[in-house]
Amino acid sequence: MEPQHERFMREAMNEAKKAAALGEVPIGAVIVRKGEIVGRGYNLRETQKDPTLHAEMIAIREASQKLGGWRLIGCDLYVTLEPCPMCAGAIVQSRIEQVYYGATDPKAGCAGTLMNLCAEPRFNHQVPVWAGILQEECQMMLKDFFRQLRKKKKEDAKNISLTQTD
Ligand SMILES: [Zn+2]
Repeated sequence: MEPQHERFMREAMNEAKKAAALGEVPIGAVIVRKGEIVGRGYNLRETQKDPTLHAEMIAIREASQKLGGWRLIGCDLYVTLEPCPMCAGAIVQSRIEQVYYGATDPKAGCAGTLMNLCAEPRFNHQVPVWAGILQEECQMMLKDFFRQLRKKKKEDAKNISLTQTD
């Protein structure tokens, strides 16, 4: 794997960290055209109370606005977690050229794990997918987040029972 793919995946990871700072599941994405980042996004589902605000959707929207059209010709997408069905659909719709992702998603991954909407031959556009870019680091970020969340829930529960006994 060329080092530039790791460089852009690190940019996507930086976006994911912004999500984590807001208490969101840390998922980040960037869109790259001719070596330049033209769109960035991180998961904002909870903060904005909007189930469509996945990292990829936000990055696609930003790139379309920046490039002045819905066709993201010559654009590659880097995302820390395998795209879900909605995002894989948006990737096909926006004519993105290649997708690079970090961790696989056994529960919702539709870029090769549960199915591959990006490579569906019956659609009018297919997108090659490259899995496992900085996979361990991307996975670790998610694992750490959920570990902290469980810990916090446990502490909250403890605090509530302490208040009750007082
Ligand atoms: Zn998604």
